[in-house]
Amino acid sequence: MSACIRLLETQRSLERRCTDFCDSLHPERTVQLADLVSDPAAPQKLGIDHWFDQNLFRRRIRSGWQFLTGLPGELPRKVPLVFYQRTDPEEDRLEFARRFEFRNFRRRFASAPAEASYLMPFTNFSAGLAGTKEDRDRRIMPLMKFSSRVSLTSADARCAEELQDTCVFGYPAYDLPTVLGVSGSVATDYMAREIVHDLGHAWLPPVVHDAEPIHDAIMVRAMKASPLRTYRDDWERIVHLECTSPIFFATGMPLLESYMSQGQHDDHALFLAEMLVEHLRKTAGPKQRLALWTLPQQQVGRSVEHRVNLIMDTVIERGFARYGNQVELH
Ligand SMILES: [Zn+2]
Repeated sequence: MSACIRLLETQRSLERRCTDFCDSLHPERTVQLADLVSDPAAPQKLGIDHWFDQNLFRRRIRSGWQFLTGLPGELPRKVPLVFYQRTDPEEDRLEFARRFEFRNFRRRFASAPAEASYLMPFTNFSAGLAGTKEDRDRRIMPLMKFSSRVSLTSADARCAEELQDTCVFGYPAYDLPTVLGVSGSVATDYMAREIVHDLGHAWLPPVVHDAEPIHDAIMVRAMKASPLRTYRDDWERIVHLECTSPIFFATGMPLLESYMSQGQHDDHALFLAEMLVEHLRKTAGPKQRLALWTLPQQQVGRSVEHRVNLIMDTVIERGFARYGNQVELH
C-alpha cells in the first residue's frame, strides 16, 4: 500500500474517532488534511487555490509520512489528526491590534502584517478554539495554531475532554506567498515543512530543546525536496533553502548576511530577514547547541552535507535513544 493511501486511511479513521469534534469545526472554513492532499476542491475552500500547489504538497507529506512509517515499530498511539482552516483577515487584524498594545510586540512587529504572527518562529499553539460546539462554528484562535497537546487552562479543557486520547493539530490557511514574499510553490514547501516537522514531534520520542535543530533537520530531509532551478530573487532562494535543506543551519547565515548587506530592502523584507537570522541563532548559535553537531574526528575534512547526514543517520540508527540529550558519536 502506498504511503499516501496509508496516510489517508489513518486520517480518515481518526476523523471517525472524533466525529463530534470534526462536526463542531466551522464547516465553510475547515478542510481535513486527508482532503487537502486528495480533493482538488479543498484549496479553494481554504482560499489558497491561487497559489497552493496541491501535487507538490502531497509529495512532501507523502515523503515525510513514508520516513516515519518506515521506522521500526508500531504506529504510535499519538498520530495526530490534522485539519486546516481559512483565516479571517478582520479577526487577525483585531487580534494584532490587541497585541500591539504590548511594547515588545510593537517593537518587533512594527513593520509586519498581522499574518506574520503565523510564521513558524513566532506562532503559539492554543488548546482552545473560538466559537462553540453547539453552534458548530469552532475556529482556531486568531494568530494561533491549535494543538490538543499543549498544556491546558480550564477554558481549554473542554476540547481535550472531548478528544480524550486523540492528538489533533489545526493550522491556519492564509496568503502565505504575500506574507513571506515568495512564489506559490516555495510557500507550499514552507507550509509542508511545518506539518512534516510537527508530525515528527507527535511520532518520535520527546526532544529536549537543545536537540530541536536535529529534529528539524531530520524532518526537513524526510521531505526530500531539491532546490529549484531558478528563483525569482535571492530572498526566495534563502526561504526555500531554509525550509528544504537540512544543512541550512550551517550554510544559511552567510547567505542572509550577504542578502541583508546588498541594496535597499523595505521594512517588510528586513523584518523577514531578521526573523530568519533570529531563527538560525536559536538553531545553531549558542555553544551548547553547536556541540550537538560536533563531529567525529575522522570526519573532519568531509563536506558539511556528508557530516550532517552522518549525524542524522546515527540518531535514527540508535532509535532516537539520545534524541532527548546530547548526541554522542565518538
Ligand atoms: Zn519542533
